[in-house]
Amino acid sequence: MSSTITQTNNHILLNEIQTQGIRLEGISDLTTREGGAGPTDHKAVTIFDSTIMIPVFSQSAKKSPFTVSSPSRMGYASLKKNEKIITTIRFIGEPKFYKENSSDGIPFWKIARLHSKDVLATTVLQNCIRYKNQETSCQFCAIGESLKHNTTIAYKKPHHLAEVAQRAVELDGISQFIMTTGTPGSSDRGAKILLESVTAVRDVVDIPIQIQCEPPDTFEWFTLLKDAGASSIGMHLEAVSDSIRKKVMPGKAEVSLLYYFEAFKAAVSIFGKGNVSTYILAGLGDTQEEILKMSQKLIHMGVYPFVVPFVPIRNTPLENHSSPDKEFMHGILAPLSQALIAAEMTSDTISSGCAKCGACSTLSTFEKNHSS
Ligand code: SF4
Repeated sequence: MSSTITQTNNHILLNEIQTQGIRLEGISDLTTREGGAGPTDHKAVTIFDSTIMIPVFSQSAKKSPFTVSSPSRMGYASLKKNEKIITTIRFIGEPKFYKENSSDGIPFWKIARLHSKDVLATTVLQNCIRYKNQETSCQFCAIGESLKHNTTIAYKKPHHLAEVAQRAVELDGISQFIMTTGTPGSSDRGAKILLESVTAVRDVVDIPIQIQCEPPDTFEWFTLLKDAGASSIGMHLEAVSDSIRKKVMPGKAEVSLLYYFEAFKAAVSIFGKGNVSTYILAGLGDTQEEILKMSQKLIHMGVYPFVVPFVPIRNTPLENHSSPDKEFMHGILAPLSQALIAAEMTSDTISSGCAKCGACSTLSTFEKNHSS
């Protein structure tokens, strides 16, 4: 590591790397997938002692001052900034469970993916009522891309999820399972299939599970999901102001902020403080002040605002939209991490979910820096 980089400013550098991405020079065999939910154009990379998702295929990554070439067979590589080596990093390799199949012959890697270094993640329903029509689809979403490229299946049945979870725990020691879903046309907005999925997985393996969906029609689903074994829930605002919500996610914005807050309140009463979270994509047009104000409101009611830098995904309407710069993210993450510490609701206090994994944002590294 360069002598100019000290332990105390690692979070600043990590934020810089995550917002700008890493340019891969002459590397063609770092496998990734096309499309899907979650961080699809990223690679999981361990830098210092944190594993974070780094954009490698975005437009900003192509222009990034951070470069990597020739990783070793174990994934180690020198990270350079403007041609100067700054540290050694490690790309997380493929897990062992990817080599196995379900009892009906579907490759496990099409059913669930490894995120970060030890998180199993799946999109139970790979379709969404909002996706096919640009008038209603979320402009940043690529849920249909992986289906188009045959790198996933449309519906992961409960037994698929149970089988992959069991083997991923046995072979790769995964620590938690995150189940998201596209939104079906039913009023439960995905809660029912998530309930079936959680039940099947918890029948065979005892791991923390986070479920992610839009707020359902009745909040009794929260009790059913908790009783079935889900330990946390994510209901994702993505954007915080009405104008950006309507512009970027016109279909999803039909579910009002008011209803989200009713759902958050009900969910916190069941899952507990911090075990209800929401993804906020910084860089879609909301100002720093709007994001911080919303985050304060969420923290006050026990909801963890997981603020991540927006990274455009290829083949989506926002593929040419820029990512927020490091100053914009720093201006949010520094005060936000302090507010989370003050509320005793940091990433390490929660049971499961993206906020626990923390790889898509450097928020938890800011938390650690402030608390040390
Ligand atoms: S934060 Fe969530 S989406 Fe990002 S790598 Fe972790 S589990 Fe996946």
